[in-house]
Amino acid sequence: MPKQAREQVFARGAELGARPGANAGAISTATNVTAFKPKLDQTDFDVIIVGAGLSGIGVAYHLQRDCPKKSFIILEGREALGGTWDLFRYPGIRSDSDMHTLGYRFRPWRGEKAIADGPSILDYLNDTAREYGIDRRIRFRHKVKRAFWSSTEARWTLEVEGPDGKQVNYTCNFLQMCSGYYDYDGGYMPGWPGMEHFKGEIVHPQKWPDILDYTGKRVVVIGSGATAVTLVPAMTDNAAHVTMLQRSPTYIVSRPAKDPIANWLYAKLPEGLAHSAARWKNILLSMYFYNAARKNPEGAKQRIISMVKAQLGSGIDAAKHFTPRYNPWDQRLCLVPDGDLFRAIRAGNASVVTDEIETFTETGLRLRSGEDLSADIIVTATGLVMRLMGGMQLVVDGKIVNPGTTMNYKGMMFSDVPNLASTFGYTNASWTLKADLTAEYLCRILNKMDRGGYAYCTPRNTDPAVTSDATPPLSSGYMQRGKDVMPKQGSKRPWKLYQNYAKDMLALRFGAINDGALVFTRAERPASKRA
Ligand SMILES: Cc1cc2nc3c(=O)[nH]c(=O)nc-3n(C[C@H](O)[C@H](O)[C@H](O)COP(=O)(O)OP(=O)(O)OC[C@H]3O[C@@H](n4cnc5c(N)ncnc54)[C@H](O)[C@@H]3O)c2cc1C
Repeated sequence: MPKQAREQVFARGAELGARPGANAGAISTATNVTAFKPKLDQTDFDVIIVGAGLSGIGVAYHLQRDCPKKSFIILEGREALGGTWDLFRYPGIRSDSDMHTLGYRFRPWRGEKAIADGPSILDYLNDTAREYGIDRRIRFRHKVKRAFWSSTEARWTLEVEGPDGKQVNYTCNFLQMCSGYYDYDGGYMPGWPGMEHFKGEIVHPQKWPDILDYTGKRVVVIGSGATAVTLVPAMTDNAAHVTMLQRSPTYIVSRPAKDPIANWLYAKLPEGLAHSAARWKNILLSMYFYNAARKNPEGAKQRIISMVKAQLGSGIDAAKHFTPRYNPWDQRLCLVPDGDLFRAIRAGNASVVTDEIETFTETGLRLRSGEDLSADIIVTATGLVMRLMGGMQLVVDGKIVNPGTTMNYKGMMFSDVPNLASTFGYTNASWTLKADLTAEYLCRILNKMDRGGYAYCTPRNTDPAVTSDATPPLSSGYMQRGKDVMPKQGSKRPWKLYQNYAKDMLALRFGAINDGALVFTRAERPASKRA
């Protein structure tokens, strides 16, 4: 192990014991963090985490708790933490899963609303980082460009673009990628004909302008995914009218923004108990509804559509605008809190058009049906560009690795890539559920390596019966567009993705690490001889 400062002392037992801070759900555990004095010039660490979003902060917490002797740092390309919850600034930005499961297992969410707005989620992340001293471990404006693994050295060397644009090299034994799944530089924008002729403003939700006055304006939102269904009701506050223009419908489900059972639990029970109970309630309910929908898709489809009809009344053609061509959970369901989208449509402030764009015009859009849609502002809620590992290039013992040709081990490591894990959350439940489990498993692996004197571990598939499957977990556009860059899943454990928290919990929290696929290797030369 390299010589480095190890002043960090973190007490265990920080789970669930703390009290509210700035955010309604904030918990103060400042006493659990003592005397960490980061050395500013230190560039060699046991672990480097890439990305200070929800996942990176979670991994840092787990490392402090479960591997207190490990030195680590978070390298973050942007100048703020929070990732998604700092980047997206469009009106109404909010979660579409409940905060009892989108929040961390180790830190309760005590906001009144379970479906929370973006700024509250960002507060929660900032408070978490501050309270556990994680904010002092982040090096902002450090963008990791390339990572080179050397089996001889049992080390990663990272080429990092520092704040002044100059390259700095960092080294570590284990690399934990928490870089999300999409391109931060820009969202997906199909090239429609005539865009250059439009006299109004075209805005992508990923790059929302600091000031966009839509008071009294006619807004068309292109898309019908989570972002579109959030934006449409939110913009009806000031816009003259908001039209959601979709090529094809999406499943939309209304859910109360406030979770009365969770709020009752918090009022009646000690905080830790209430948090666990609210969390498990939501985990089990979402697993139940997901499994029921997959077992009986037609039944689920009819149920969702009848709920939509009940919300919209008879004036809207639900068969045309709210009946997707695919089955529930082939794509993520869109959630609308307290039916806000349906209310806006009922009130006449918003409408839905199902059609295709023929061309942009000076004043709006001409549709395939021949209809003209007038607009002052067009919002292209057309999705994300999938990007794994933040676009970082990966080189293992001199060979460039395309993650798209690897197989996913337990949903967190890549076949034949040593000492690298990557956090990727669930597509059918809150991201954090899997992110927390991934962080726990990382710590188990690191501790096992320390106990056994191993320098690295590599997932290797030696079972000829395992076949690889390139089908992405969802049929959504961004997944289809990005399927070549995503690692494949295998036909059986530990290479198969179950998208199931209970199964993953058993495997990652309690399951044996020695599963025949994760191969542990001792150092090729003594640590003392390393540079
Ligand atoms: C609008 C929107 C709403 C969402 N709502 C939900 C929801 O309700 N529920 C849910 O479960 N999921 C939701 N998601 C998915 C969401 O991204 C995850 O829940 C979660 O925020 C992901 O956290 P993360 O830390 O893994 O990634 P991110 O939030 O994407 O953070 C990644 C961080 O890594 C940094 N980074 C990337 N590459 C590099 C590099 N090379 N060098 C240095 N730093 C780098 C980025 O700057 C960023 O700060 C939503 C996504 C979007 C876009």
